[in-house]
Amino acid sequence: MNCPRCNTNCRTEIYEGVEIDRCESCSGVWLDYEEIITILKEREVKFSEEEIEAMKSRIGQGMPDAEGQHQVLCPKCDENMRTVNYQANTGVIIDRCPKNCGLWFDQGELEAIQANAEYWEDQSKEQMQKWKTVYKEHIESATQEYYPNTGNPIKQAINLFHRYIGDE
Ligand SMILES: [Zn+2]
Ligand SMILES: [Zn+2]
Repeated sequence: MNCPRCNTNCRTEIYEGVEIDRCESCSGVWLDYEEIITILKEREVKFSEEEIEAMKSRIGQGMPDAEGQHQVLCPKCDENMRTVNYQANTGVIIDRCPKNCGLWFDQGELEAIQANAEYWEDQSKEQMQKWKTVYKEHIESATQEYYPNTGNPIKQAINLFHRYIGDE
């Protein structure tokens, strides 16, 4: 396959367990449509604080005028690819085949999307952990001991809730 950006040969390589095509000249990456899902699940490649900060500074940025103008052709079906802001607000501008052959990432864009996905995954885990801790403390201080054989639905709910949290 040739690079849709600079027409240089793309080399196949394994990245995050997925076979991708990377341009030997501009380092852009072609992914078949479903491969991005696998790559976002894998977390073998680590990102530095600086990369995370750079990624965060892009969030919410719109499409730069220049990005909307360059047009690339899908290397599989020759359709004009659409320029999109990945997931609407990441500020990472990628090219997507309208027939869903795949996605084109210029150098660094794939990594920016990965850093973005990992950041939000970590954020939500952190929030969940905080929430559990707060509730656990709250229930423990509210009840001191739990309610064996209670008929009171509120107390039953507290028991259930505590059991759920206690499993973690
Ligand atoms: Zn290229
Ligand atoms: Zn296509």
